[in-house]
Amino acid sequence: MKQKTAVVGFGCAGYHGVKAMREHGYNGEIDVYTDSLWAPANPMLTTYYIYGKLPKEATRPFGTLDELAEKYEFHTVNGQAQKVLSEEKSIRMKDGRIERYDQILIATGARAFLPPVEGLDCKNVFPMRTMEDAGRVKKVLEEEEIHSAVVVGASMVGIKLVELFHARGIKCTLADMAPGIFPIAAVPCIASEIERRLKEKGVDLAFSRALQRIEEADGRRQVVFAGGEWISCDLVMMCIGTRANTQLADEKLRVNRGIVVDGQMRTNMPDIYCAGDCSEGTNLQTKETQIIGIWDNAAKQGRTAGANMAGVRTVYQGNMLHNITHFMGMDFIGYGDVRSEGREYLYENRELGQKFFLRMGDAGPVCMNFLDSYKASGALKSYMLRKINGNAQTLSPVERVRMIREGIPEDLTELLMKDQG
Ligand SMILES: Cc1cc2nc3c(=O)[nH]c(=O)nc-3n(C[C@H](O)[C@H](O)[C@H](O)COP(=O)(O)OP(=O)(O)OC[C@H]3O[C@@H](n4cnc5c(N)ncnc54)[C@H](O)[C@@H]3O)c2cc1C
Repeated sequence: MKQKTAVVGFGCAGYHGVKAMREHGYNGEIDVYTDSLWAPANPMLTTYYIYGKLPKEATRPFGTLDELAEKYEFHTVNGQAQKVLSEEKSIRMKDGRIERYDQILIATGARAFLPPVEGLDCKNVFPMRTMEDAGRVKKVLEEEEIHSAVVVGASMVGIKLVELFHARGIKCTLADMAPGIFPIAAVPCIASEIERRLKEKGVDLAFSRALQRIEEADGRRQVVFAGGEWISCDLVMMCIGTRANTQLADEKLRVNRGIVVDGQMRTNMPDIYCAGDCSEGTNLQTKETQIIGIWDNAAKQGRTAGANMAGVRTVYQGNMLHNITHFMGMDFIGYGDVRSEGREYLYENRELGQKFFLRMGDAGPVCMNFLDSYKASGALKSYMLRKINGNAQTLSPVERVRMIREGIPEDLTELLMKDQG
């Protein structure tokens, strides 16, 4: 009898899981459970769709569900999965039916986190994650007079919305409880440079302000912060973080913030795999499990799960925290743990407005931030990963020349050549 596999959730991780399964020769049946007929969509493109820079179709970079179902020979089950019964390797449907499988991949991603404050149900207060969220914001921008917006959450999602509003001429305030932008990725000297540039472009910043509630007054929103300070606006976007969609996991699966997986994307229960933003894989830097909620990680985890589910043993060592964001003509790149300790170095290319920050621990770089040096970031990331993986080799002369060619300052390459970590 043919093997039967279920993939629950069909975003980046689910798509790559199915693709890898077929590419590695899996010829059993696949049921794909999705809660969106627009899947698999790239959430990173939603703000470009709202702005009109991309047509809606472009947010599905791999093709439509029907096209993919034909190409990778799977059945689509829409809006039904309620629980993964991990011991029985089954999925309980919303209507009570139970479907049994030989193996299951959970790839349900994450949802926008909404804090428990009053007023989230006010008109024109939106989260931002899905195409449905994007559709709602697009409609409001097209049909209503929106002159001002407050974006709560100085995250990579928040800044993309600031970019969108700024481009549409909407007066925008970026607010966060943290003292600066990208609190989990940017060190203060780089954050303050980004903030300076944002202010120069006319974006208002309201940091170190904890959201207390949202009110409606005279047809407008009042965003009220602890201490009583408030900002009046037409639209509020909530981008203060995400929560992994782990509700589907039964009590036998090991779940922290995400579903815990090993290097083969196996959970603690046999034949139940997990990948993407709902999973907690290895953080190479801390060696602990952690959600690393970025596109590239979801793709690699999905591919790894798919290969193993097709019977080809494949290990994904893990990743480090990183953030690569392009916005308003700037590139911010952050690698590693922003709270780590070590010797700090800052290099600048004033002519190109580039900044390079490195924090060096005993075993090499522990945190790096770059501003406007996208081309150089790949080489520096490889170097950092090499050190994290315990490779003592310093920068070779050939690598050094390559890095300099990519725009990395010579002083910085000298530092890496002397790095004895
Ligand atoms: C606005 C925005 C900007 C971003 N910018 C960046 C960036 O610049 N760089 C970067 O690397 N990353 C960025 N990300 C994050 C990146 O998009 C995610 O890391 C990536 O999409 C994760 O893929 P995934 O497959 O794990 O989850 P998702 O893309 O969330 O897909 C999961 C799918 O599962 C579905 N699902 C959930 N529950 C169920 C259920 N019970 N049954 C069936 N289906 C279910 C969901 O609807 C969804 O379709 C951004 C995200 C957003 C929202």
